[in-house]
Amino acid sequence: MRPSFTFSFASFLLCLTAAELQKYNAIDSDHVLNVHVVPHSHDDVGWLKTVEQYYYPDQNCSISPNSVQKILSTTIDALQQNEARTFVVVETKFFAMWWKEQNDAVKDTVRFLVANQQLSFVNGGWCMHDEAATHFVGMIDQMTTGHTFLERELGYIPKVGWQLDPFGHSVTQASLMTSKMGFDAVYFGRIDYQDLAFRHSTQQCEGLWNASTSLEDTTVFWGLTGSYSGNYGPPKGFCFDAYCDPEQRLLGLTEDTLLERLKDFVQQLRAQSDRTSDNHIMLTMGEDFNYMDAATNFANLDLLIAKLMIYQHSGRLDVPQFLGPRHNRLNIFYSSPEYYTQQKHKVWKRRQDLLSNETEWKTKTDDFFPYSSCENCFWTGYFTSRTSFKRLERVASSLLLASRQIDVLISNEELLDEYNCDCCHPFYELEDALGVAQHHDGVSGTAKQHVADDYAKRLSSGMHRASAHVANLLSERMYAVNSTVIHLQYCPLLNETICPVAEEATKSNGTALHVVVYNPLGQNQSTVLRIPVASLACYEITDLSNNISICDHSIRAAMQPADTSTYVVYYDTGSLPPLGYKTFQISKQCDCPTTDIFRNPSLVIVEKERRRLRKATSTTIAVTNDFMTVEFDTITGQMKRAVSDGTGIDLVQDWGYYTSFDHQWDHSEVPAVDPTQNSGAYIFRPSTPTQDIHHLLPRKATVVDTPQGAEVRIEFHQNWIRQTTRIFQSQPFIEVEYEIGPIPIDDLRGKEIVTRYRASIASKSAFYTDSNGREFLRRQRNYRPSWDLDVFEPVAGNFYPVNTAIFLQDKNASLSVVVDRSQGGSSLQDGTLELMVQRRNLADDAKGVGEPLNETSGGMTPYPPYGNAERVGDGVIIRGTHRIMIGKGLTGAKLARSLMDSAFAEPLIFFGKCTIPCPAIFQSASFSSGLSIGLPKNVMLITFARLNTAKYLLRLGHQYGVDDDDELAEPVSVDIGLLFLGIGEVDTIDEMTLSGNQKWESLQKTKLPWSGETGSTSDKDTSNKGNMVVLRPMEIRTFHVTVKAQ
Ligand SMILES: [Zn+2]
Repeated sequence: MRPSFTFSFASFLLCLTAAELQKYNAIDSDHVLNVHVVPHSHDDVGWLKTVEQYYYPDQNCSISPNSVQKILSTTIDALQQNEARTFVVVETKFFAMWWKEQNDAVKDTVRFLVANQQLSFVNGGWCMHDEAATHFVGMIDQMTTGHTFLERELGYIPKVGWQLDPFGHSVTQASLMTSKMGFDAVYFGRIDYQDLAFRHSTQQCEGLWNASTSLEDTTVFWGLTGSYSGNYGPPKGFCFDAYCDPEQRLLGLTEDTLLERLKDFVQQLRAQSDRTSDNHIMLTMGEDFNYMDAATNFANLDLLIAKLMIYQHSGRLDVPQFLGPRHNRLNIFYSSPEYYTQQKHKVWKRRQDLLSNETEWKTKTDDFFPYSSCENCFWTGYFTSRTSFKRLERVASSLLLASRQIDVLISNEELLDEYNCDCCHPFYELEDALGVAQHHDGVSGTAKQHVADDYAKRLSSGMHRASAHVANLLSERMYAVNSTVIHLQYCPLLNETICPVAEEATKSNGTALHVVVYNPLGQNQSTVLRIPVASLACYEITDLSNNISICDHSIRAAMQPADTSTYVVYYDTGSLPPLGYKTFQISKQCDCPTTDIFRNPSLVIVEKERRRLRKATSTTIAVTNDFMTVEFDTITGQMKRAVSDGTGIDLVQDWGYYTSFDHQWDHSEVPAVDPTQNSGAYIFRPSTPTQDIHHLLPRKATVVDTPQGAEVRIEFHQNWIRQTTRIFQSQPFIEVEYEIGPIPIDDLRGKEIVTRYRASIASKSAFYTDSNGREFLRRQRNYRPSWDLDVFEPVAGNFYPVNTAIFLQDKNASLSVVVDRSQGGSSLQDGTLELMVQRRNLADDAKGVGEPLNETSGGMTPYPPYGNAERVGDGVIIRGTHRIMIGKGLTGAKLARSLMDSAFAEPLIFFGKCTIPCPAIFQSASFSSGLSIGLPKNVMLITFARLNTAKYLLRLGHQYGVDDDDELAEPVSVDIGLLFLGIGEVDTIDEMTLSGNQKWESLQKTKLPWSGETGSTSDKDTSNKGNMVVLRPMEIRTFHVTVKAQ
């Protein structure tokens, strides 16, 4: 139904004609300054309030009065009042909530407004994701969730990226989340204040961005918002929203006053146009949660636009005087980011034609990290903030990846009907929760405590539902009629050595534990299981795929408070098949003496092996496995030296903390813009800019033999830090498991905890960090590629996001550390790698969240009027792991790459209790996915999900960059047919954009080319031959695959 437009404006607007209030009418003349008015609202998917509290009116108003429901409803009404008005919607999560509440008539109105180009969508992800703490899998998934909704409900395909608020911008955002997502441009507000000043003075507030050294054709247009102010609001003094100062509104002003206001406005337009090199500027008219009262907002905007045009026409406003010398006429109109981008492309094309392949826009190739907003305001704390949530997000994302695969591999026709609606889909809740968690105040760790709790609760609930579904599928598959006898379960607290079903099943000789270990990688991987059991005893562990059993002792888990009464057995799974599983049975039946496990004849080999493993002198103990030898100090347990792959380096690990800057106690040593800038949820600022760490010193070490290797347990003089260093026989890395907390605050000082690996590597101030798990970037201490850096914070200003790995190298040796969640990392002296693993602050950093990052075990009491928002309990305890690899010179990337996929897509483990004799499992229990030979070593199966009964979403990624390895960085072929062997014969394969919302081929017809080259080079050598596809370095290709009915 077409809504009828009413033009009953307030009387002051009756004199306006269409000429004064238009949309999308740029004038192609260098003398005309085209001003694109883009009304928008920045609606955080949770920050100070939860998603629901932000959506519904009148919720938690003591924090903020905003309601996105009101924003969307009043905006849709206001758009109908004048067909020139435009608006962009960004966060699809909120739009989806609103959409579900609307009747067909309203939905038709919205469809009309979209068709009339009044309502458009930019970005279109479920949220506006963070770019520092996010992993590419989470980013792709959340964009896909949003894009799928828009495509399904409105047939809408967003064309522009819109990352207004994130605190720094990654190369992955540019190359994958913009270019490969099908966007022509990306716009954002925040860049480093020094970079911003430089760009102001050189007309480089917009430009081209070719951010990948591996991928071709990824050049996009980028631009700053907020009139290049470092933010995303309207020109200063022109916020017309319900909660802006009413003095800023124009309605009701006398003509003279209005004229003065307009002069101020035009002066700001001039300032903005001076900072870019052509005749188009964009005004982002909106801020956080604006358009609560869209009628008022638009009425003022209409007046502003119309009066500028009328006063210019009548000569009342001497436009050339304000705009000269480049422009002598103003053309202001309602617009959209998409239209603005088209105009910029016209400019680019014209310049290309004129200047033969030259453009006045420079091409940027690095990223926008780290971001600082003043001399002492480095937004590098949030790389680590809320570290346990950052881990939970990673685990949940990996669970979703594996669950989708298992769901594809175990076809169950009865269940398929349930997939046809969002709410019944067993993965919907997890997809929704993960979509929300990627938000730039979600996984970034910068939301208020109650919102962070809500994010965690959503993930937990989604994980429960998805894992229960998968456990049921597996149970039915494995035990058939006996599936009610063994009920498989997922243990979400396994990292705390808590798994009730495992402890219950290993209590007596009459029961046993089944452990199903699923490998979501397209290659074999092995892992060492660490299974909680009931007591200190000997257990028989049987690999049910070959019925080979071994006897093994449980050992005390460690010295952690959470584990005091728990025992674990270790077991090396051996090679797990690609996209397949193995099942193990653990029972307390072994008759091995409790005093000396080596008397058991079956363990003689292990004993011999172990004796070979360890050699001790009075000061050094050396542990050797198939891959390396690591020497430890016998007293402190600290590493001293490591030899691997014929390469030996001195390697020492330190622990320590920086005292957080708190203006109650600290005074700035340098002339600061804001001497009160505290360290907080966003900002990392040590109490003095050059502060070295306060060392935390090891007190004693215990070396514990485990059946799978050796572990060195280190106690410190401070009882709030513990470490276990593990060398497993079958694994090529050193595993460092640390446990931190509760961080003491009785000295009233916040602390930022770091560990520092010191190696004999001549790194010459360079180190490398990954971008969202994709490409590695070379970092150099106290240096930025884009401008001459003035250094005010030599510690905080050298931290970068580490999503999966950081490394150092010289021509002789390399040291790589793979992390299990995002954290901040740096190299503050040559030969060192430093990772910030936990933070506890007692002051707020005044960047909006309004509370210190002081996580406690009991959370917080409610906000007023229901409580006093007080902290409950002691500081939290967190646990995490680093995997360390050592290798030959200049192989840092290769070493890291070999572990990055398995660190993300860890085996998914299910547990079930059975009564002995346990029911037999099908011996052919491994999936016949056709992947028995596995995918090539450098390919990750990023997504393998069912879209409907015969249609699948498949994403394959080449996991090496061009410079990462000689052999594995080559293009690689994959046979898609093999993946579907156990499912059905492949019928059609359509290559899609990264989010799967349109065919890749269709995109090529509409995409604006920015690189000057014609034709897509990737099409030349990566064309599909039958079911074979070619992946080039760092390339991710997305397909919709249908199979023939069987
Ligand atoms: Zn925001």
